[in-house]
Amino acid sequence: MDSAFFGHVVNGAEIESVDGARFASVNPWTRQPWTEVALGGPADADLAIRAARRAFDEGDWPRMGFERRGRVLHRFADLLLENTDVLAAADSQDMGKPITQARHDVTRAAHNIRFFADHARLAVGETLPMDTGHHAYSRFEPAGVVVAIAPWNFPLMLETWKIAPALAWGNTVVLKPAEDSPTSATIAARLGLEAGLPPGVFNVVHGYGPDSVGQALTEHADIDRITFTGESNTGRALARAASATLTPVSMELGGKGANIVFVDADLDRAVSWSIQASFRNAGQVCLAGSRIFVAREIYDEFLGRIAEAAERMRVGDPADPATELGPLASQEHFTKVKGYLDRVESEGGKVRAGGTVDGWVIRPTVLVDLPPTAPHAQEEIFGPVATVHAFDTEDEVVALANDTRYGLNALLFTSDLDRAHRVAGRLRAGTVWVNCFFIRDLRAPFGGVGDSGVGREGGNFSREFFTEPKAVVIEIAAAKT
Ligand code: NAD
Repeated sequence: MDSAFFGHVVNGAEIESVDGARFASVNPWTRQPWTEVALGGPADADLAIRAARRAFDEGDWPRMGFERRGRVLHRFADLLLENTDVLAAADSQDMGKPITQARHDVTRAAHNIRFFADHARLAVGETLPMDTGHHAYSRFEPAGVVVAIAPWNFPLMLETWKIAPALAWGNTVVLKPAEDSPTSATIAARLGLEAGLPPGVFNVVHGYGPDSVGQALTEHADIDRITFTGESNTGRALARAASATLTPVSMELGGKGANIVFVDADLDRAVSWSIQASFRNAGQVCLAGSRIFVAREIYDEFLGRIAEAAERMRVGDPADPATELGPLASQEHFTKVKGYLDRVESEGGKVRAGGTVDGWVIRPTVLVDLPPTAPHAQEEIFGPVATVHAFDTEDEVVALANDTRYGLNALLFTSDLDRAHRVAGRLRAGTVWVNCFFIRDLRAPFGGVGDSGVGREGGNFSREFFTEPKAVVIEIAAAKT
């Protein structure tokens, strides 16, 4: 497989940009370019949308039925797994993800494809026998051309989270991966063609967002859905673009998850999940639970344990299978996260663990003594930086947890069943994890409250977004005598 150049994939062919432009993908560990990628613009966006439109209006895919589509999608998932090495290396070199985590992402990507292929095939609609002598039922027609815009933190995994339901329900897709993690999308599109996806069904275009290919895709007049994952401010720009054409948009945006450790928590579990929730993927996780509130009675013990576990993490070369934490994804992002470290003392805080940098690597960092209103505890740092705060009462901690413009997720650790249910109900978040983290059932609603998103995806929620649900009403005439 060619690794010197990654093109757009449009209408079944891997191609250069219309104007021949390319950009380099920089490996954040070596801080050197490792490959070249086609740099698209509005003309490339238009080409891809037109290919997707033709494949939708004239091609087999929307009409092929769930069985046959499902077989192609399962073959696609098989090929992703067979190519785990190359896909994982692509994500890891693009954005610095430790290779072991990148391999895990490929497994999850294949699972996304299988899940939505099966979900669509097995889905049932409603039948509504009416008292009036009529019979109503629902159908779910494919929506049309779906534009999928993805972030760089879980490249392949989040791209498949979008394209799998879109394709399974019979749509055609134009995917724009993030400019910091472009290459696995081209590999996936090559494999999709090999699996039997007809030309034009799954297209990929590369390049930047504002005033470029991303914006051109979202402003295009001939699209039917936009599914976006990224920053909240980018979401606002997309919502404005989509308003001109009244295109439905699903948005999974930023987060600042609260992580509450009650006095009766199993501390081993709380510490080990908090390490994952704060430092997995170098903290570049929308679902991070790095705003940690700990019952005052156990604050010192928890802090000692999490600081020690953070110091023990294996930090270094993402290509080493033993590495748990690698560099941040780009120089720009590193500079942003480093800016928070530079402001710890001026905001009244102290570094309890980590806080040091090497290249674009920031060691797992635990901050204490910051007020919950400090920028570190309010803004999405998107790096390996956790803040730890003490609390006294359940009411107080629920108020602290909910005191954020985000509402993507929250974690709580307790062995009190009543408290688990009570607090889960009171937290303003799209997902609440009790005594665990990151575990997903793809049938469940996924999305956020407030600045964390608009709409939900997952299971039937994805069906509703990626289809046009339709009501059919039939009159049942009385028998002629
Ligand atoms: P980003 O918003 O900068 O970019 C995301 C994508 O949008 C990229 O492909 C980018 O090129 C494109 N884009 C940017 N401006 C655009 C525009 N005007 N028009 C069209 N496309 C545009 O986000 P990022 O830095 O890549 O990712 C990190 C963010 O994503 C964090 O805020 C994180 O919380 C969020 N995220 C959310 C979830 C979730 O499920 N809620 C999951 C992962 C990441």
